[in-house]
Amino acid sequence: MSTDPTVIVVGAGIGGLTLALELHDKGIDCVVFEAAPQLEPLGVGINLLPHATRNLARLGLEEALAAVAVTTKESAFFNRFGQHVYSEPAGRHAGYDWPQFSIHRGDLQQVLLDAVRERLGAEAVQLDHRVVSASQDEQCATVEVEHADGSHESFSAAAVVAADGVHSAIRRQFHPEAAQPKYTGYMMWRGVTAWPSFLSGGSMVRAGWLSTGKMVIYPIRDAVDEQGRQLVNWVAELEAPMRDKRDWNTPGLIEDFIGPFADWHFDWLDVPAMIRAADEVLEYPMVDQDPLDHWTEGRITLLGDAAHPMVPRGSNGAAQAILDGRVLAECLAEFDPITALQRYEDTRLPATSQVVLTNRKNPPDAVLREVHERTGDRPFDRIEDVISRDEILALTEGYKVVAGFDKDRLAR
Ligand SMILES: Cc1cc2nc3c(=O)[nH]c(=O)nc-3n(C[C@H](O)[C@H](O)[C@H](O)COP(=O)(O)OP(=O)(O)OC[C@H]3O[C@@H](n4cnc5c(N)ncnc54)[C@H](O)[C@@H]3O)c2cc1C
Repeated sequence: MSTDPTVIVVGAGIGGLTLALELHDKGIDCVVFEAAPQLEPLGVGINLLPHATRNLARLGLEEALAAVAVTTKESAFFNRFGQHVYSEPAGRHAGYDWPQFSIHRGDLQQVLLDAVRERLGAEAVQLDHRVVSASQDEQCATVEVEHADGSHESFSAAAVVAADGVHSAIRRQFHPEAAQPKYTGYMMWRGVTAWPSFLSGGSMVRAGWLSTGKMVIYPIRDAVDEQGRQLVNWVAELEAPMRDKRDWNTPGLIEDFIGPFADWHFDWLDVPAMIRAADEVLEYPMVDQDPLDHWTEGRITLLGDAAHPMVPRGSNGAAQAILDGRVLAECLAEFDPITALQRYEDTRLPATSQVVLTNRKNPPDAVLREVHERTGDRPFDRIEDVISRDEILALTEGYKVVAGFDKDRLAR
């Protein structure tokens, strides 16, 4: 790099790449430093709700995303006996101006990466640049980068944004006391299986409840083989001792969690058969961290999971990182870097803290908890006798308001 960029973005994940596109859109130059030597299509499924797709569509990415994702048609809730509790349309099907996408994380990252390279240039994302620390003086912020061969380099910019995920090195540097993740008591096993389409072919299903086993199931790629099957993403959640560290890539074993789901043979899906046919199984502990009291130190700030790690529930990890990027780019376009970073924090820290805390207490599938408790975990005759439609709507709409994707707010 011949001249210092205005912004150094640390991490080419979902938040970092989106921020790079937002900055470019505002005419602000940046470089993205990514620790990995190659960007592999890691992870499994992510749901992009309309508040996230609105921003991605504004960046001109809707078509590219639609080509690789499954457009979600509905969100459907069932008890663990496969009985239907409630369904609501999703995205454009629900009258939003933007779609809801169910997508492989690797596909999402690739769409963002292609757009960054095309718009900002091939050099905009620097791989094998692990940022180990950040410092600043009155003129600039500086990051120290370590390469895989052990060599070190320093780079400066007017501002540094740490979008380096749940294990953020810069968060650890500025908030060493916040390093300990909080375990919720639930483990997650995640996988993908090529499987015939079920329900609408674009249904995001949540079934069961945590104490007896809960599943989230939705397709993320269409027509993955000659039989026209979809790639189906599934997540099994169970109460269990924390088994491993917080690592997105830890392989999991089907026998460790299949028990409570072994008799989930529904007329709309054979859940254990789908699990057993998985291409890949990963495990991940449901952990989050208490919200930080600040993200910004002068010219250095945090974004995405580095700023507000939350339990991966409610499809909001990626969405909140995407929303952060928009606000930060707008602030940087309007104010000097130090003021901009503080304004960004003033807007986004309270909003994301509320999502972190709501995901703990009242997640979007709280309706399943209600049904589970009111039925004493037994099959029901009529759902109307268990919970009224108004009660269901109060639970589901309440979450949308906190997470920022209620229709009124998005329309405004
Ligand atoms: C490998 C992986 C798999 C995932 N799988 C899923 C999934 O299946 N489903 C799901 O909902 N969420 C998944 N996530 C998390 C999800 O991407 C985030 O919750 C969300 O998108 C917020 O994005 P983010 O940009 O804040 O963090 P991330 O998307 O996690 O991106 C952080 C990026 O920073 C890089 N990085 C880390 N440390 C450094 C450093 N010191 N210097 C430079 N770069 C660094 C990482 O390699 C990564 O590319 C996964 C994350 C990762 C890293």
